[in-house]
Amino acid sequence: MHKEKKRICPECKGIVKPGHTEMVYKLKDIKITVRNVAANICSKCDQSFITGHVAEEVNRLVNRVSEDINSFIKTQPEVSKGHKEVAIAV
Ligand SMILES: [Zn+2]
Repeated sequence: MHKEKKRICPECKGIVKPGHTEMVYKLKDIKITVRNVAANICSKCDQSFITGHVAEEVNRLVNRVSEDINSFIKTQPEVSKGHKEVAIAV
């Protein structure tokens, strides 16, 4: 049995556990919420820690959306209705 490495939150010394979080970006005047981002979350203060690999994936996704924001918006009925907010999941 290999022992599990316990991560400690640098903010509050709480236990950090694997989970999911949201990342919010702003493209033009539209708020993009990326949901379901794999992260390690502190069970005490809710601080989330994202690995470099995951951050890279999310950046790539957001870049792709921002390159083609106009056609992306067309696929988002909420935005065309005037809600300046969309959510994407990874
Ligand atoms: Zn903490």
